[in-house]
Amino acid sequence: MLAPFVKVGGHQFILLNILTREFVFFGIPFWPNDFYLVALLFLTGVITIVLFTATLGRIWCGWLCPQTVFMEMIFRKIEWMIEGGPKEQAQRRNGPWTFDRAWRAIVKIVVFAALSFGIANVFLSYVISSDRLLSYVVDGPLAHLELFVGLVFFTFVFFMVFYRFREQACLIACPYGRYMSALVDENTVAVTYDYKRGESRSKWTKADTASRKQHGDGRVQRAAGAGDCVDCHQCVTVCPTGIDIRNGIQLECVNCTACIDACDEVMDKVGMDRGLIRYSSLNAVEHGTSQVFTRRIKAYLAVWCVFILAVGVLFATRSDLDVVLLRQPRSTWTVMKEGTANFYALNIINKTSEDLPYELIVVSPTGYEIKPLNLPPQVKAEQKMEGRLIIIRTARSGRTGDETLQLVLRSRGTVLRTFETTFIGPRE
Ligand code: SF4
Ligand code: SF4
Repeated sequence: MLAPFVKVGGHQFILLNILTREFVFFGIPFWPNDFYLVALLFLTGVITIVLFTATLGRIWCGWLCPQTVFMEMIFRKIEWMIEGGPKEQAQRRNGPWTFDRAWRAIVKIVVFAALSFGIANVFLSYVISSDRLLSYVVDGPLAHLELFVGLVFFTFVFFMVFYRFREQACLIACPYGRYMSALVDENTVAVTYDYKRGESRSKWTKADTASRKQHGDGRVQRAAGAGDCVDCHQCVTVCPTGIDIRNGIQLECVNCTACIDACDEVMDKVGMDRGLIRYSSLNAVEHGTSQVFTRRIKAYLAVWCVFILAVGVLFATRSDLDVVLLRQPRSTWTVMKEGTANFYALNIINKTSEDLPYELIVVSPTGYEIKPLNLPPQVKAEQKMEGRLIIIRTARSGRTGDETLQLVLRSRGTVLRTFETTFIGPRE
């Protein structure tokens, strides 16, 4: 949430401007020619999610996905403050429209809309930068009407997601859930109902109450043949996607753990051990043991390590300076009054936070000069400089024909780059 408003070394902590291809991750700016690093980071993120899903189920959905985090940590908590818990809400929903129901509904809409507007602004600041967003706010909406219309549209989308669609958005729009069935297996740790302990399910009976009194140690032995599930449906009632986890792991489960909490509460009330629904794997429930490092997980881990290593190495060796010297396309040589000339284009990207004065000279062979055409004397901090120059073989050098030149780019006496280029000239 705060990432666009945090600055590191003068840069926004995270900026994802797809339109202008400006990317900043953790305060490090990436230029278009660093795009391979951005792509690699993205792929590493995907492989990380695959690895974690195969081992820990939909941990992303339950704990990291912005939709779930906003929904569970902010919107649902506010909803509960305004309208009460799920039971109270259901009672109100099924009852008539009263003043009490109306004011709560209006307050909820206003608060949800305001929060959605705030979230849309935060998302926009990821794209256009928080500085630009603040300047647009100062200018007023009419000065940037198109952007404001987009902002209102996304506010409406967020509002509908949090107010109406909620986890349905995960089922309808999110591609990740679709891949889940391909990634999980019987060793994946996920929210799981212990059917061995819970079945056969049956309602809590008078005999069970009597049994609880008899034992008096907090543990209850239900009637013969009855499992620990008292078939209260609490796990189904609290489930945001409306599934019954007792039917096994399902595509719709977003790992929010609401059913775990609800069932633990029921177990506490009836005096049985918690954990009838818990984080576990199918193998652990069935056989009491589960293998975490299966061959498949080891393979994912190996690929993940390779990617992490590659990202680390490429980051460590990433240059602060990109220099490209290219002969002007489709050009050969020209005769000028100073001598024979070849035209070049010079591009320098200065990724550092300091201005970079520079000079380009021909170190070998002798008899050559460089004449800048429109080259500024320095490259500004975090800027790209594009310009043209002429390499001239002086008439007095007496050299002829094509020659290989050695050039260096220096800054404050330090050699930054060396180049080789072939100078093209007449044979005599
Ligand atoms: S909350 Fe627990 S006891 Fe109640 S139905 Fe679900 S699994 Fe059974
Ligand atoms: S309540 Fe349980 S079954 Fe429903 S989505 Fe959350 S974790 Fe999955």
